[in-house]
Amino acid sequence: MALKKAIVLGAGIQGVSVALGLQRRGYSVALVDKAPDCLMRASFRNEGKIHMGFVYANDSSFKTSALMLRASLSFSRLLDEWTGVAIEWPVLTSSPFMYVIARSSMVTPESLLESYEKLQHEYVTILKQEGGSYLGKRPASIWSPLSADQMQVWINKKFSVSGVQTVEASLELEGFRRMIRTALARSSAIERCFGCSVESVIRTANGFRVEGSREGGTMWERHADIVVNCLWDGRLKVDEHMGIRPKRKWVYRLKYRSMGRLPRTLAGLPSLTVVLGPYGDVVMYPRANTYISWYPACMRGWTDAVSVPPEWEEACAGRIDAAAGDRIAQEALSGFEEVVTGMVHTKIDVVDAGVIFSWGKTDIDDPDSELHERFHIGVQQHDGYFSIDTGKFTCAPFFAQQFLDRLG
Ligand SMILES: Cc1cc2nc3c(=O)[nH]c(=O)nc-3n(C[C@H](O)[C@H](O)[C@H](O)COP(=O)(O)OP(=O)(O)OC[C@H]3O[C@@H](n4cnc5c(N)ncnc54)[C@H](O)[C@@H]3O)c2cc1C
Repeated sequence: MALKKAIVLGAGIQGVSVALGLQRRGYSVALVDKAPDCLMRASFRNEGKIHMGFVYANDSSFKTSALMLRASLSFSRLLDEWTGVAIEWPVLTSSPFMYVIARSSMVTPESLLESYEKLQHEYVTILKQEGGSYLGKRPASIWSPLSADQMQVWINKKFSVSGVQTVEASLELEGFRRMIRTALARSSAIERCFGCSVESVIRTANGFRVEGSREGGTMWERHADIVVNCLWDGRLKVDEHMGIRPKRKWVYRLKYRSMGRLPRTLAGLPSLTVVLGPYGDVVMYPRANTYISWYPACMRGWTDAVSVPPEWEEACAGRIDAAAGDRIAQEALSGFEEVVTGMVHTKIDVVDAGVIFSWGKTDIDDPDSELHERFHIGVQQHDGYFSIDTGKFTCAPFFAQQFLDRLG
């Protein structure tokens, strides 16, 4: 019997998860991306945090935190199952995050702690009812409070005197990409159509035809029974060609990241997330450069158009003008200097950016912004055509599993 065929649009974390899941279901898959390799865009130029829900305490419905937690607890299990590669999670994992509660936090420390307690309860319930692990581990407790003295080892007391230690961590994305690349290369059922832009998806009598062009201008096309749109910042445009338009307002944001080496005086600094508001993060990896972002310095683009502006392309492809990159990085370091003294002496090696798609129309400094609610995301289905809003890197394998469940 002929294999069922699928075309997966986009080889970011979402497309890769879907393609790997489909090949395990016996599909023959064409995985298409305009980039020359997998995981070259948002899924590479991001913080890599596998969110347990701590940063979504401003969603009073608790739905975003619960979704992130559930997704995070299936992340490594699903990828282990689908890749067939022994992914060394501990090697890829950053040091765990200390959450620093800013004096100017939008949510009071009491409310944050209340929401973290709820998270702990939910964590125990999910593990009991659904199993799973957090990147291969099942700690009994996912956070503990820190004393003012513990905080002040690193944190300026003018900025914060309260915080918690969590078990949450980020993945080192260069190493993660190597694992995924190996898994894709091993799979004879996945055709990697890289360097191929997607231009249109057409329904045919037997399924779908997808067409586009290669870098040199030659055309390509593939035919399949189903199509899965995982194009992230290119997703709405293709959906629109299929006659699908969102009913909600959306926004694309362009967010920069810097990777660098901290000064010796900061050796041993834990990974940090500052809550809750437009602050930033530092991610410490055992074998890679440190990730640094400070929201007011790093958020540089905003559009509610169907497609992102072409001028965002260079930074998203990792080709940023050195002087512009340095300016952004220095602003980010100066911002973080308020939290940790000495950050300004960091040596920056890389500055680039990624696009964030989310529902909403105001920024995160607005307590009522929908950007604090990330649960209206996931799989949409239109008679053989699927479109997946990944929402967060964390959610991709979880949504790929939901998609497979819908296929039956
Ligand atoms: C700075 C930053 C920090 C972030 N931090 C985190 C974090 O810590 N934790 C977390 O969970 N999430 C984080 N995110 C969000 C996360 O990066 C995204 O949710 C996730 O990577 C999206 O994955 P994706 O596969 O949908 O998109 P992508 O990785 O962007 O994949 C989409 C693919 O589609 C391709 N494509 C697009 N249009 C076309 C076309 N027309 N033809 C062919 N190919 C096309 C692109 O080349 C790309 O490879 C962050 C994002 C940014 C920008």
